[in-house]
Amino acid sequence: MIINNSPWIKQLKRTRPPAELPKEIKPDVAIIGGGIAGVSTAYFTLKNNTDKKVLLLEAGYVAHGATGHNAGQIVSYFEQQFARLVEKFGLKLAARAQDDIDSAWLLLEEIYNEARLKTHFSQFTGYAGIKDLEELIIHLKNRKYSLDAGINFEHVLVSGDTVITEKLPNELKDFCVLVPHKEILARLETEDKSYVAAVATRKGVMNSASFTEELVGYLITKYPGRFYLGEKAPVSQITLNKNNAELILDNRKIIVGKVVLCTNGFEKIDIVNNQGPDINSKFHKSVVGAVGYMAGFLEKPSKPPTAISYLKTSEDPVYYYLTRRPYEGEKDNGHNLVSIGGPEAVMEDTRFYQPQNHDFPKEMEDDIDQFIHKTYKYAPKNNIEYKFKWHGLMGYTPSGLRIIGPEPLNPVLMYNLGCNGVGILPSIYGGKRISLFLQGKKLPKSIFDPAPNHKIAANGV
Ligand SMILES: Cc1cc2nc3c(=O)[nH]c(=O)nc-3n(C[C@H](O)[C@H](O)[C@H](O)COP(=O)(O)OP(=O)(O)OC[C@H]3O[C@@H](n4cnc5c(N)ncnc54)[C@H](O)[C@@H]3O)c2cc1C
Repeated sequence: MIINNSPWIKQLKRTRPPAELPKEIKPDVAIIGGGIAGVSTAYFTLKNNTDKKVLLLEAGYVAHGATGHNAGQIVSYFEQQFARLVEKFGLKLAARAQDDIDSAWLLLEEIYNEARLKTHFSQFTGYAGIKDLEELIIHLKNRKYSLDAGINFEHVLVSGDTVITEKLPNELKDFCVLVPHKEILARLETEDKSYVAAVATRKGVMNSASFTEELVGYLITKYPGRFYLGEKAPVSQITLNKNNAELILDNRKIIVGKVVLCTNGFEKIDIVNNQGPDINSKFHKSVVGAVGYMAGFLEKPSKPPTAISYLKTSEDPVYYYLTRRPYEGEKDNGHNLVSIGGPEAVMEDTRFYQPQNHDFPKEMEDDIDQFIHKTYKYAPKNNIEYKFKWHGLMGYTPSGLRIIGPEPLNPVLMYNLGCNGVGILPSIYGGKRISLFLQGKKLPKSIFDPAPNHKIAANGV
């Protein structure tokens, strides 16, 4: 059945008409894509580059892409485990990247305070449940490496009264805290005794669509004459010259000094590089698309906000994530919304993904339903009425990392993209980083840098 009923879009309070482009504009920077990445990039560019005029172009409406169809869980870890990043890039680069993403918590607060945003945002300690020794070892290594690097981002709690403790490698035993099994289950809000460990991290919940829409409203008011927004303005071609770029949209051509792609990875744009080797041919193939499915139900608001992940095992390769938060979208306010995601379907050709015309297969709902009944101890005992069922497009880069920075083959083009399942804080950090590049700053090498061999997603591959 065709369904895409996102609670975040339902909650959006758009108070402005669709933005139309003025006839005459001469922007210094064009940002393509009006999701959280594009709007955060616009925010930091306008703030930190006070001489620059910024144009934001969105093919549809602001915040209606992945930003309006996610789980809204704020976390500062990566799609790739920290230990894997250390093994691949070395401790120094991995730790710097972790620090960078951690810094986005402060950037988020900066935005909230400065723009006086009202979108609900809670922070708390959230958990990830572990059943497998293999998964536990990775997290103990994360802990070890993070302490080696002087950062402190995960605490691993292990059930002291299960056999898993006997299997822990000696060299990693010191990196966990032993607690009674019932404490693990309590923190994971489950009665499923196969969970034997829990990773505690700083987490939060936010409606990222509402955040993005509020922020764009702030930019429109704060920067008249320096900020232009065009919605229903798909860019079909970018021609890169030595010192500028030409953008083609509908029947219009716009010349800009720099262009930043914040398109999540699925841009449907031809890129012509007049200053060197072809960028285009590799571009579209490097981001793998997958549709992620989610469902949510309402319950009485008796429990505090939370975000819990239930990590995959060799028998069950799906990674589920649950959030609970106050939800004010209904007539009689006073509900919690519990939303659950996990099942995904890889999409070979994402050009055919149209958010409002895409199926929500029954097996995805059944999968979520089975999981929630089996795992969440506060789930209703009977049939659950899912008030919301929605899906969104994930873009996985080969490295599992966001790509942020100038294209090595022509720095007129920049990127802040690659959804990778965890994108809220990385998008915000990416926006800040791009604004520094636009100031002409030379930044230390990063694992987010686009690769020098004209494969856009080849950082770390
Ligand atoms: C099901 C699901 C669950 C997720 N859960 C979480 C989570 O809990 N926590 C988390 O941190 N992250 C999560 N994510 C990832 C997160 O939502 C994304 O990383 C983030 O929203 C990406 O923002 P974005 O601005 O890069 O992309 P988008 O929001 O997709 O915005 C890109 C925009 O670019 C526009 N565009 C594309 N091509 C063009 C063009 N040619 N011209 C003009 N505009 C164009 C699109 O219309 C779109 O609006 C999830 C994602 C999904 C799909």
